[in-house]
Amino acid sequence: MEKFRELGIIEPILISIKEEGFKKPTEIQEKSIPLILAGKDVIACSATGSGKTLAFASAIIKNAEKGRGIGSLVLTPTRELAEQVAKTLEMFSKHKPLEIAAVYGGLSINPQITRLRSADVVVGTPGRILDHMNRGTLNLQNVKILVLDEADRMLDMGFIDDVRKIIRECPMKRQTLLFSATITPEVAHLISKHIKNPIEVSAESYVNPEKLPQVYYDSQDNLKFSLLVHLLKHEKTELVMVFCNTRRNTDFVAKNLKFAGIDAMAIHGGFSQEKRNFVMGRFHSKSAHVLVCTDVAARGLDIPGISHIYNYDIPKDSKEYIHRIGRTARAGKEGKVINIVASRDYENFSRVLHDDNLKISKETTPLVERVVVKLAESPRGFHRRFGGISRGFNREPMGNRNRETGRFNKGYGQSGRSFGGTNRGDNRGYGRTTNRFPNGERFGRQGRSGGFKRDGGGYSRDSGGNRRVGERNRGNSNRQFRGTGGRPSRYGRSRRFGGR
Ligand code: AMP
Repeated sequence: MEKFRELGIIEPILISIKEEGFKKPTEIQEKSIPLILAGKDVIACSATGSGKTLAFASAIIKNAEKGRGIGSLVLTPTRELAEQVAKTLEMFSKHKPLEIAAVYGGLSINPQITRLRSADVVVGTPGRILDHMNRGTLNLQNVKILVLDEADRMLDMGFIDDVRKIIRECPMKRQTLLFSATITPEVAHLISKHIKNPIEVSAESYVNPEKLPQVYYDSQDNLKFSLLVHLLKHEKTELVMVFCNTRRNTDFVAKNLKFAGIDAMAIHGGFSQEKRNFVMGRFHSKSAHVLVCTDVAARGLDIPGISHIYNYDIPKDSKEYIHRIGRTARAGKEGKVINIVASRDYENFSRVLHDDNLKISKETTPLVERVVVKLAESPRGFHRRFGGISRGFNREPMGNRNRETGRFNKGYGQSGRSFGGTNRGDNRGYGRTTNRFPNGERFGRQGRSGGFKRDGGGYSRDSGGNRRVGERNRGNSNRQFRGTGGRPSRYGRSRRFGGR
């Protein structure tokens, strides 16, 4: 406790820290709290999980004067992070009670208006904060501390104009604290415009790779889901997060895990706020053990007890990868990261591996029992993609149905070729794969039997970095099932990846 006291943290917070059982400050706390408490503007480079909330909470709670208007404003990129930061602030201010209002979209505005009238601290997402400002229900004239949490994420998500408007509404004489995992050019620009002479501190990523074994399994395309089920059933875990790159895949995986008898729940940006809160509640209370999610939905979440992170889809680069793995091995607890790599992940995976700090070792892929997927009610695009039969859908293709994905192989009966094998790139060059990870190790099956090849031909990219094939055919999705004889259609994957 002495170490926390030496940083200048006030007594009521120290009591909460003791109650939480924290033994010593984290690196970012050690480096930033003395500066923050001295009233400096601080730029802190640190990821979620580094203990950054306590760093800014120490000043917010110390300076708060009850009943004197909104003294501090914290901007967060997501609703979940806003909720989480508000809860953490409540926890640290238990012995100096404050009115903390969490303000974000997706929930009814009236209760928020009522709370804002008596709030000492406001935590919220830029869109809803701006909404309140425009309605005249949020007065920022007394703000003394402005915190921009996960600034890189906030700007990545397109909030720059909103953030600027909000900053301009705060008094010039204030303390500004900016937390960001990376200082991107956009973040640097924001800093140069709105923060005067800040002091920069940074902490190593809190994810300690020694504490966090990271492995990958090279999977046949059409056994990916089966391998996931196998691993989930055989690895001993606490809570598990399974990451997918798209909402559609998230739904697909969660639904079929449930069918396979695994207590999984999905969360993504397409859900209403009530539903997101409900899912998070189930996961927090451990009544569901597997959370299948997109990056956006999981951003900044701090859920104790996550032991395993699965990348069912490999993220587009190492930055996103580090954000994902930061969900486990938090505050010194051990975890494990499992990557399931099939041919459609090769490009992303080689980008992830370009980060020298990441050590991901190869595991022998076990023999797995094929899991037949079932699909529940699904949106139109979902049916099209997975070959579901719905009203108005009567273009049954020729060929075999891939039992895992439900897609049709159009005359390509051999498994191993079918998943995503309907684009130009995958159909060329059977027989030789020359993929190598940066360390020189080869990946993918070699030789004729594997039948897949990483190839840049015939696709472009969506915002998530996913391959989108058949872009040319956008707007005429029916064509994807037009008979192509024994030749695979190159249109098969159009519209395959939805938004996050
Ligand atoms: P944050 O980066 O603020 O989201 O914090 C991540 C997690 O670390 C939270 O669960 C905190 O309760 C926990 N935490 C924060 N500071 C410490 C500390 N000094 N020692 C142990 N755990 C901490």
